[in-house]
Amino acid sequence: MALIVQKYGGTSVGTIERIHAVAERVIATRDKGNQLVVVVSAMSGETNRLISLANQIDTRLSLREMDVLVSTGEQTTIALLSMALHAKGADAKSYTGAQIKMLTDSVHSKARIKDIQCGNMQADLAAGNIIVVAGFQGVDEQGNITTLGRGGSDTTAVAMAAALKADECQIYTDVDGVYTTDPRVEPKARKLDRITFEEMLEMASLGSKVLQIRSVEFAGKYNVPLRVLSSFEDGEGVGTLITTEDEEMEQAVISGIAFNRDEAQLTISGVPDKPGVASDILGPVTEANIEIDMIVQNVGEDGTTDFTFTVHRNDYDKALALLEKTGKKLGAKKVKGNDAIVKISLVGVGMRSHAGIASSMFAALAREAINILMISTSEIKISVVVDEKYLELGVRTLHSEFDLDQEAV
Ligand code: ADP
Ligand code: ASP
Ligand code: MG
Repeated sequence: MALIVQKYGGTSVGTIERIHAVAERVIATRDKGNQLVVVVSAMSGETNRLISLANQIDTRLSLREMDVLVSTGEQTTIALLSMALHAKGADAKSYTGAQIKMLTDSVHSKARIKDIQCGNMQADLAAGNIIVVAGFQGVDEQGNITTLGRGGSDTTAVAMAAALKADECQIYTDVDGVYTTDPRVEPKARKLDRITFEEMLEMASLGSKVLQIRSVEFAGKYNVPLRVLSSFEDGEGVGTLITTEDEEMEQAVISGIAFNRDEAQLTISGVPDKPGVASDILGPVTEANIEIDMIVQNVGEDGTTDFTFTVHRNDYDKALALLEKTGKKLGAKKVKGNDAIVKISLVGVGMRSHAGIASSMFAALAREAINILMISTSEIKISVVVDEKYLELGVRTLHSEFDLDQEAV
């Protein structure tokens, strides 16, 4: 008997009709002789709705209450799915994060999982129950409700699969696998049969929201067989398997293109250049808990330096205000910001052994008159920052330049 963890995202449980369809799929999996743990997200739009309710009040002092609020979305879905399973004659039992218990640290809205106690669940599974678990939520040592960051139900599912040593963790969503890029931006995107943990991690951290980054980290660390599949397709698809690199894998140089619309760029120019200037500029930003992504520094012949970096768009106003203050202190000529930018990245482990990828990338963008604002590279990725109006054109241009387009049928 295999133990399968299935996770259904927001659109997969977006209506009562969809919840019935999920219940049917769950029962079909059970009827093949499997034990099942099902992790669900809030119904689509629900988490955003709850956040916008809170945003009509001032939430700055209420991080703890924000988690109490947003975790209710998943609690609704576990109850509804369990009811749908009962109505179809299946034994099912719902669990919130606190009931499991999914122990996390106390960092509200981006808590990390520390431990999962599976005792009750194992007894329930052995007694023939389907276990329905609320994704995205946990509880800290003091019993406070926490949440795992947007998209966190993926991480709940992988963590459950690791803790229960499940045979497979299946992430059901509204696309039938991981594609070479977001199929909503490039309809010629091609579905991948397999992708390595390393590449998936890079894609996720560069903006591909099909899997939350931490879920991929977890799956890689605990070797959880992870598959992305569609809940909208009839029957059983094969989806995309996220796996360790193996000899037989056909090794494309570029496996995918990720993009991120959530960044903003800040520049401070004409700062007298001396040791410590980078830390003078970035120190106040990181002290305010703002994460910095890309950094570029240029030194001019006049002995002054220009410094550009990117932050999450949500932190843009705060970071700009801090930089303006720093600018005055350091005697900078100018401080400016731009929150209408995007980052586009090429990802592929095959890049390690291929020179010239970066220059082909820059040449392809230049042919479309797309100006590059920033560049950053690592062993298996190259990222550029461009004006947000070039997102679609940039992604499609690179998709075709690196032969990722699906063959016409
Ligand atoms: P869920 O609600 O099921 O968690 P998400 O919206 O979080 O679903 O993730 C699925 C979405 O991820 C797809 O609808 C697709 O638009 C987007 N996506 C982004 N990059 C990719 C990619 N490389 N492959 C597949 N889907 C992608
Ligand atoms: N409901 C949460 C969100 O919208 C978690 C998830 O869907 O994975 O981010
Ligand atoms: Mg998701």
